[in-house]
Amino acid sequence: MRLGTGFQSCRVNNQTGGALMKPNSDQNITTAWTNGLLATMDPEVDDQYGILPHHSLLTQGARIIGIAPTRGLDLADFDEVVDLNRALVTPGLVDCHTHLVFGGDRAGDWEMRLNGFSYAQVAAQGGGINLTVTATRQTSFDDLYRASRHRLEAMMAEGVTLVEAKSGYGLELEAERKLLEVVRGLDEYLEVDLVPTLLAAHSLPPEFVGRPDDYIEEICRHIMPKLWREGLFEAVDIFVENMAFNLDQARRLFRAAAELGIPVKAHAEQMSAMGAGRLVAEFGGLSADHLEYLDEDGVLAMSGQGVVAVLLPQAFYFLRDAKVPPIDLMRRHGVPLAVATDFNPGTSPFASIRQAMNMACTLFGLTPAEALAGVTRQAARALGRGHSHGQLKSGYKADFAVWEVKRPVEIFYELSASPLVDRVFNGISSMF
Ligand SMILES: [Zn+2]
Repeated sequence: MRLGTGFQSCRVNNQTGGALMKPNSDQNITTAWTNGLLATMDPEVDDQYGILPHHSLLTQGARIIGIAPTRGLDLADFDEVVDLNRALVTPGLVDCHTHLVFGGDRAGDWEMRLNGFSYAQVAAQGGGINLTVTATRQTSFDDLYRASRHRLEAMMAEGVTLVEAKSGYGLELEAERKLLEVVRGLDEYLEVDLVPTLLAAHSLPPEFVGRPDDYIEEICRHIMPKLWREGLFEAVDIFVENMAFNLDQARRLFRAAAELGIPVKAHAEQMSAMGAGRLVAEFGGLSADHLEYLDEDGVLAMSGQGVVAVLLPQAFYFLRDAKVPPIDLMRRHGVPLAVATDFNPGTSPFASIRQAMNMACTLFGLTPAEALAGVTRQAARALGRGHSHGQLKSGYKADFAVWEVKRPVEIFYELSASPLVDRVFNGISSMF
């Protein structure tokens, strides 16, 4: 019997297109979630999924306050008791690399690539990231908000409760601020946590053609410090690639970030070995993402500093890449492996974290347990939230997903039908 308060809608906000305000759970309400199979993803539990059978998940408001054997638990001690009907419970899923907020689309780019042009050739002919930059600059805050909200709701419908969202389609102060304010608005009004990242160093804007060093200087001196002071992002990212920025420019950006105490990450070694994985490690960064061309030195450097490798198999698939990231090498050296969608209009128009898990296994050779850890515990760590998200554990957020499956691999086995039956955010059942 469910006695919970369920989904609560609050006030309507005009500016954000009628979004519901994020519900606040009553911090005092205690709930025992019983009769579920808990895949805690806690590495201290002796099972690859951290499964604890015959246990109940205990929450108070938005926090997990314990996991205890159901037998011997006095349910009368709790304000609410929820029967999970033998469903599998995982931590809320985490998408730790997305480009959620953008205007326009890149279907024309894709058609060109299907007709034989390379990604670099498409960019050189006016497509690529800067096509999205033009469209995004011309799109209003409200329209960006509405489009992003729909994308985010598709993610949430798959059990996602924490999403990283990058800027990077504005490439000048006001437009980058607009994107990050959209992310803040989404975080404020939807039943999901967002982590904003500044990716002003995504591509060279048209105003700086031929002057990449000047643009890096503009980011270091103006864009980054101003938006940081406004509290609009949590980490700084850069696309290190022949068609974007080089290692020296990344180093300058990271030095400026370090002076402000800003964590760093990079789009690294996607199309060529540039050394960005090593550079992120040198600066003690959060993650290096993509990594198809990561070499052994880079693996060792990342391993030594605990830098998370964020694998993006949908971009690999959509770009029809052939070179797979060095999974075995990273596994051997204990590099934490996260998995994300890289959702973006050009190279990964897929918001599905379940598809990302599926492809991480089929294309990159991850085990199902590695894939689930990759979108829970390891993804949370890539966002600097490893202490609060991504595990079912006392003290962690009461964000979890309830699946009508017998074994965890079924979460991402049949992509056409989601087995999600409930999604709990801040201790509140928000879907069914
Ligand atoms: Zn990306």
